[in-house]
Amino acid sequence: MNLFEKRYPGERSSFQVGDLNFGMDFVWIAGPCAVEEETSLQQMAETLGSRLDMLRGGVFKPRTSPYSFTGLGEEGLSILTRVGRKLKKPVLVEFLEPQQVDEFAGEVDMIQIGARNMYNYPLLKRAAQSGKPILLKRHFAATLDELLSAVEYILKEGNEKVVLCERGIRSFEPRYRNCLDLTAVVHLQQITRLPVLVDPSHAAGDSSMVQKLALAALSAGAQGLLLEVHPNPICSLSDAAQALTPQEYLNLRFKAEKLSTFL
Ligand code: PEP
Ligand code: MN
Repeated sequence: MNLFEKRYPGERSSFQVGDLNFGMDFVWIAGPCAVEEETSLQQMAETLGSRLDMLRGGVFKPRTSPYSFTGLGEEGLSILTRVGRKLKKPVLVEFLEPQQVDEFAGEVDMIQIGARNMYNYPLLKRAAQSGKPILLKRHFAATLDELLSAVEYILKEGNEKVVLCERGIRSFEPRYRNCLDLTAVVHLQQITRLPVLVDPSHAAGDSSMVQKLALAALSAGAQGLLLEVHPNPICSLSDAAQALTPQEYLNLRFKAEKLSTFL
């Protein structure tokens, strides 16, 4: 029997991270693709204020090209956790290797397993064993059964604090970065008790599409959003084209709150 399955219709698992309840609350996670600099990160988080539930920021970046910015590493982690502590926001950080989990899991509130590492079983296992809440992204070429097998590695270790994240899959269409699979979001809600979040930023690859995809994800039943927001997107050292400005993020949240009254 698979642990991710719903045992009865409507069953939904939930868990707390600080004041947040994944599975019950609609969760807003936002921050830059990569942590770059402390003052502007703090100012941005202050601007988002109560409209931000959890602060994200990459410090160990898995980049397609080895010549791209790969993050500030440990220094970036210190910046992110300092800002998180000052603003009383939990932080989400991606780890790429089991050793990073061993060294740094104690400093973060939630671990992200990125799309590229969905198939990294030693990493899944070690992240699960840390006991930390985990956000597991779907690989851009993974079937839902492969995603659910990956999450099973986490659940099998006795770690139930896990959410799935749809971030777009590769399709035949070259005009945008990925195709946001909202059918998967609806279907996953039907078959698994685990919360499902959506990352429209990596799906679109273009900030002008992010708001609409985010609202569509909310309508499709997602239980939260993961959004890339940068204080000054054109200067972003990674994924500049898809980053929202703080104002665009606030505007999206305002619209989402209005839309949710109809759902
Ligand atoms: C990210 O969220 O920083 C990221 C690298 O996303 P993905 O793993 O979905 O490409
Ligand atoms: Mn990114």
